[in-house]
Amino acid sequence: MQPQEEVKAIFKLILIGDGGTGKTTLVKRHLTGEFKMQYNATLGVEVEQLLFNTNRGVFRIDVWDTAGQERYGGLRDGYFVQAQCAIIMFDVASSNTYNNVKRWHRDLVRVCGNIPIVICGNKVDIMHKKTWKKGVDFDRKTNIYLIEMSAKSNYNVEKPFVYLLRKLVGDPSLQLVQSPAIQPPKVVFTDEMSRQVESLFNEAKSKPLP
Ligand code: GDP
Ligand code: MG
Repeated sequence: MQPQEEVKAIFKLILIGDGGTGKTTLVKRHLTGEFKMQYNATLGVEVEQLLFNTNRGVFRIDVWDTAGQERYGGLRDGYFVQAQCAIIMFDVASSNTYNNVKRWHRDLVRVCGNIPIVICGNKVDIMHKKTWKKGVDFDRKTNIYLIEMSAKSNYNVEKPFVYLLRKLVGDPSLQLVQSPAIQPPKVVFTDEMSRQVESLFNEAKSKPLP
């Protein structure tokens, strides 16, 4: 990223979902140049400023990540206020975390209304087919997008941000012109694994609304 390039817009993204699903791991993958973390003790939140260099200019996404209080129930409204987009994360190997997506979605919509949302099924590197298949009755609403991901192996870690930027900027052809700096993968995700995961997720995505 060239330092003289101006940030065209800043968006607030809230990262929610059950504890242990990999939310903090995802934000920490991104090592952007102007990386700056702020901590708000009242709300118990860490805000990470991630920069994305796209064919429509440089955008900053301020990602609100909890300091772990989601483990003890819902988050305070102050956390949600003025969020412009959201990621709801679940762990594909834990059906509980998938079942709770609905609750997270409800909490989010109650405060934020109809903002663009990505639901990320994380940890596909350890995906257990049976667990995931159980949860295939995916409730697809407008403005929601489902992405399979492995934060640990960098698989699809950019995808939710690109999707949300497209929605926020209103340009479906927006794309990254430079990969953001990312930590090296911690586990290896093979092409064969990725094909397997994609076919399972495609099945979920093609299910009609319940
Ligand atoms: P959070 O509570 O949602 O912020 O979850 P963390 O980011 O703290 O991650 C919880 C645990 O899941 C940690 O031990 C991570 O290393 C692990 N984890 C996160 N992402 C992945 C992934 O894609 N694959 C695997 N196998 N483990 C992951
Ligand atoms: Mg966390």
